[in-house]
Amino acid sequence: MSELKRFKNYMDGQWFDASTNETFEQRNPAKLSEVTGLFPFSSKDDTLKIIESAQKAFSDWKAISPAKRADYLRSVLVLMVQRKDEISKIITLENGKIISDSLSEVNSAINEMGFQINEGLRLFGETIPVSIEEVFAYTVKEPLGVVSVISPWNFPFNVPVRKITPALMAGNTCVFKPASLTPQTGYILAKLFDDAGIPAGVFNMLTGSGNEVGNIIVSDPRIKAVSFTGSTEVGMEILKKTAIYATRTQLELGGKNATVILEDTDIDSAIKDVIRAAFACSGQWCTSTSRVIVVKKVAQEFTEKLVEATNSIIVGNGFDKKAGMGPVCGASQVETIMKYIEIGKKEGAKLLAGGNRVTNNDFQDGCFIEPTIFGYVNQNMKIAQEEIFGPVLSIITVENLEEAIEVSNDIKYGLCSSIYTNNINHAMRFIEQTEVGLTHVNLMTSFKEPQLPFGGIKESGVGLPEAGKTGIEFFIKYKTVYMKYT
Ligand code: NAD
Repeated sequence: MSELKRFKNYMDGQWFDASTNETFEQRNPAKLSEVTGLFPFSSKDDTLKIIESAQKAFSDWKAISPAKRADYLRSVLVLMVQRKDEISKIITLENGKIISDSLSEVNSAINEMGFQINEGLRLFGETIPVSIEEVFAYTVKEPLGVVSVISPWNFPFNVPVRKITPALMAGNTCVFKPASLTPQTGYILAKLFDDAGIPAGVFNMLTGSGNEVGNIIVSDPRIKAVSFTGSTEVGMEILKKTAIYATRTQLELGGKNATVILEDTDIDSAIKDVIRAAFACSGQWCTSTSRVIVVKKVAQEFTEKLVEATNSIIVGNGFDKKAGMGPVCGASQVETIMKYIEIGKKEGAKLLAGGNRVTNNDFQDGCFIEPTIFGYVNQNMKIAQEEIFGPVLSIITVENLEEAIEVSNDIKYGLCSSIYTNNINHAMRFIEQTEVGLTHVNLMTSFKEPQLPFGGIKESGVGLPEAGKTGIEFFIKYKTVYMKYT
């Protein structure tokens, strides 16, 4: 048996093992017996040192011009483009998503990075007239200091790139902790920075547990901002900790996204989008559609066609070009999702498609679950209220648009939504009343582009949205200057 590859942390421009020499394993979700690598199980000491390294690098990085920072980051971007196939393979290996979706993730990261590099060159201040003569007043935007970035396993590459690029372009230095289910994707990102020659200490990455490493990089007073994407539960705990030092906090959290289908839409094209939004990445996009709210008039036609399309999805290893849906990401995800499928059955929802693990032949050692649809779902059921984060879609039937809006809003989450209709009045009413940070008309819940802000409301998000203009705004502070001259 060949020896397992051992990966390292990246700090102060060097590669390190955990000081305790402890490691943890990552396993391929398509084949749990396959350990893909060993990663540093970083200690408190390692974490404190990495913060120190980022702090030491801050004043020099802040002092160089944004144009030079952009040059460094463009070198990272060039390598990202050159290595996109290699990066995509690592994403599929660790996360399970099909290879074409991994490639799309890397392409999205490339676009996000390009956009945010340019935004960093446009950190404009203002000149503002004041009430007394011979006083010149203006604002400048300055970096905050050391910032921490904590990312989830579902977009293990794009999410950190979307956060780290504006953080660094604004002149901050950064400590990054990837999710423990996708540490090699974190490593490959650090490798890009290292190979591109980023100055030592500007970008640092370490792996380890959320409770140890994660906890320190949100609680240490030297950290001036925390950008976190992950579950609502963990995010809310982080918010309590960052409140202690009034550390700036941005949380992108869970969702339970609804797609509304009205009678005046093209059902076939709506179904195409719903299938993609519900089952791509095995329903583990934060923007996945997990509830379809359909008006009675077209409910039967819509449901029958949706079930037929769902049953034709080929579940398989993400590297298999024929596969339309890969495994879910890890054994604990399987347990949670299967638990919710059982809850749905007990609550009285009707299983219309899927509902089982796929364990035949090559699949017995992997985390494969059939794409699953529940019909006759009532809004008060747990499967309609809680984030399952898996390939499980609930169909809720309503009388009309008003009820659809009420049902779609009757939830603690507020990430994204969508409506399919050709009636402009219905679309406008929905846009006005939907309680989310991101909504769509005749586009799937997951559609987004880097030049527009992205963030949830209610228990789906806290702080300024990522991406767009607010992406970099989160990482800067304002200084107002009054200057008297004679
Ligand atoms: P998670 O909350 O379990 O973990 C996210 C990250 O936080 C990981 O890196 C983890 O190690 C770290 N962490 C865990 N405990 C911590 C602690 N006490 N202190 C600091 N860090 C800690 O989430 P996950 O399972 O990796 O990701 C799935 C969740 O992420 C879902 O709820 C999904 O909706 C959400 N998500 C949201 C968005 C969005 O943009 N709104 C995007 C992607 C994923």
